[in-house]
Amino acid sequence: MKKYPFVSLAAINAPYMEEMKEAVCRVMDSGWYLGGEHTRQFEKELSSLCQTEHAVVCSNGLDALKLIFRAYKEMGVMRDGDEVIVPANTYVATVLAVSDNGLVPVFAEPSEETMNLDFRGLEEKLTPRTRAVLPVHLYGSACWSPKLNDLSRSLGLKIVEDCAQAIGARHYFAGLKRTHTVGGLGDAAGFSFYPTKNVGALGDAGAVTTNDPELAATVRALANYGSDRRYHNIYQGYNCRMDEIQAAILSIKLRHLPEIIKQRRLRVKEYFFNLANRKIVQPVWEGGSWQVWHQFVLRIPDGRRDEFRSFLAENGVETDVHYPVPPHLQPCYKEYAHLHLPITCKMAKEVVSLPITESTPIADIREIVDIVNRFK
Ligand SMILES: *Cc1c(COP(=O)(O)O)cnc(C)c1O
Repeated sequence: MKKYPFVSLAAINAPYMEEMKEAVCRVMDSGWYLGGEHTRQFEKELSSLCQTEHAVVCSNGLDALKLIFRAYKEMGVMRDGDEVIVPANTYVATVLAVSDNGLVPVFAEPSEETMNLDFRGLEEKLTPRTRAVLPVHLYGSACWSPKLNDLSRSLGLKIVEDCAQAIGARHYFAGLKRTHTVGGLGDAAGFSFYPTKNVGALGDAGAVTTNDPELAATVRALANYGSDRRYHNIYQGYNCRMDEIQAAILSIKLRHLPEIIKQRRLRVKEYFFNLANRKIVQPVWEGGSWQVWHQFVLRIPDGRRDEFRSFLAENGVETDVHYPVPPHLQPCYKEYAHLHLPITCKMAKEVVSLPITESTPIADIREIVDIVNRFK
């Protein structure tokens, strides 16, 4: 039987292999493996993509978000016990970045339609200790509302974007008739270049973007033992650096991002125009070309998600679930298990992700559509 893999990293990277091998050899020959010209170059390219003043690379996406909150604490903007509003339906890393810094995650429900943070419920989550909102651009759709700008202006909240799944995605400001890319919407943003992300390294890598020079300098110092200059430690920092090899690889991948997004969109169109099955709920297409489709996530109501997955597996189609257990129900967050988050829990039971990578042949997408349409 034909197999339809969910993701194949070798296939995703195949088009860039020659370019990447050359780049790796260049770094090897240079004798400079950390914090060199490839790192500076990639930071320039990333900040230019996000239209931000600064980009600081680091070890991975979790560390990027952790560094932002730690930096705000060092800057006196946040203190132990302060609250950060997070979407309840996210990957656990979003929440870890908050709790690891002694801050308190306040879980907010998603909109059932967009699966991103529901801004209608935001005000009721605010308390005198709220210091930040952490919108996650889940599945590659920008999670933004001018309301966030208002909150930041009126209450001084920091808006920290989790861009791990959304590099290159844009938010459309209807009133202004213009778009802005994620990573430059809020006060600071964390990116992940984990190999399966839309721009993936050959290992772990991440970055922080911001327009705030103090935040950028603090993150940069914290990621390098807390040192602002050699043998001078102003913070009790970490080692969260990124290799020159990964930076060189990422410059190549970033250059190809428009094509990566275009290819993913072509596959999404195949799904949208041809999926026809009343048993499934398709994701929202915002119109325009603003979403970057890190995942293509269906919902299968009536408790039939696992049956649907088995049917697809029997027909060779590998699927995944993002995510089966929300962070507040993980064993490590027992103290939040009592929270009433019905929409989040419903999503966790209904969502299923179909293959959507730029290396999945379009002909395969058509065959997957036929298989999905046969589910009764
Ligand atoms: C992948 C991911 C992260 C963490 O990134 P790593 O590089 O794996 O540490 C954080 N948030 C979200 C939403 C993610 O998808």
